Amino acid sequence: MRLIGLLGGTFNPIHFGHLRMAQELAEVLSLDEVRFIPSANPPHKTAPSVSAKHRANMVQLAVENNPLFKLDTRELQRIGASYTIDTLTSLRHELGNNVALCLMMGSDAFTKLNSWHRWQELLNFCHLILVQRPNNRTKQPLVKELESILHQHYTQHSEDLTSYAAGYIHMQAITELDISSTTIRETFKRKLMPRYLMPETVINYIQANQLYV
Ligand code: ATP
Ligand code: MG
Repeated sequence: MRLIGLLGGTFNPIHFGHLRMAQELAEVLSLDEVRFIPSANPPHKTAPSVSAKHRANMVQLAVENNPLFKLDTRELQRIGASYTIDTLTSLRHELGNNVALCLMMGSDAFTKLNSWHRWQELLNFCHLILVQRPNNRTKQPLVKELESILHQHYTQHSEDLTSYAAGYIHMQAITELDISSTTIRETFKRKLMPRYLMPETVINYIQANQLYV
């Protein structure tokens, strides 16, 4: 069974935390590809300061020299809130049921999963791959319903991911990089340079388009 990694996010902007997570998971789980899926209208954030088109363009610049990585713009083609469940439904239509979809997320995102639209159905469409996000200051204990989902679907064996197309939760240790888009946006606002935290091509794009000024 083919294994496809999915990384959704606002990517405002994309940085090495996202890219390194995708690379390490692709290698350790033998993923056939990783799709980066920018959220057009993230339901739980105030509207991003930078358009979905610019955010997608930055993802494209960041992934274009890696043959495993692809930009997937399907959320930009929809109107209304960008719900992951709709994205997964659409990917299933496109790819069929013989590929395993591995939705990757950081611990901060998983902690809030129970606020996602139709979140109980997500595991019918994909596996979840959880990575630890360092220095998660707002770290909260998992609510009971997430504890129980984790308990029911957890596997420590990554080989399980290829035996079913969906339904497992796996945790993978990766190099923890304390990088966030929030601190990068603040860095630009303070007229400082976030070099070595993100691709130079993306920094150049931001400057050329005067984003985050
Ligand atoms: P913001 O500060 O604007 O929320 P962010 O850096 O958290 O931006 P997102 O686009 O919100 O980036 O994150 C998309 C996904 O990538 C989420 O699942 C998030 O947990 C994960 N992620 C982001 N940065 C890291 C990192 N440094 N290490 C591991 N996972 C990360
Ligand atoms: Mg975030």
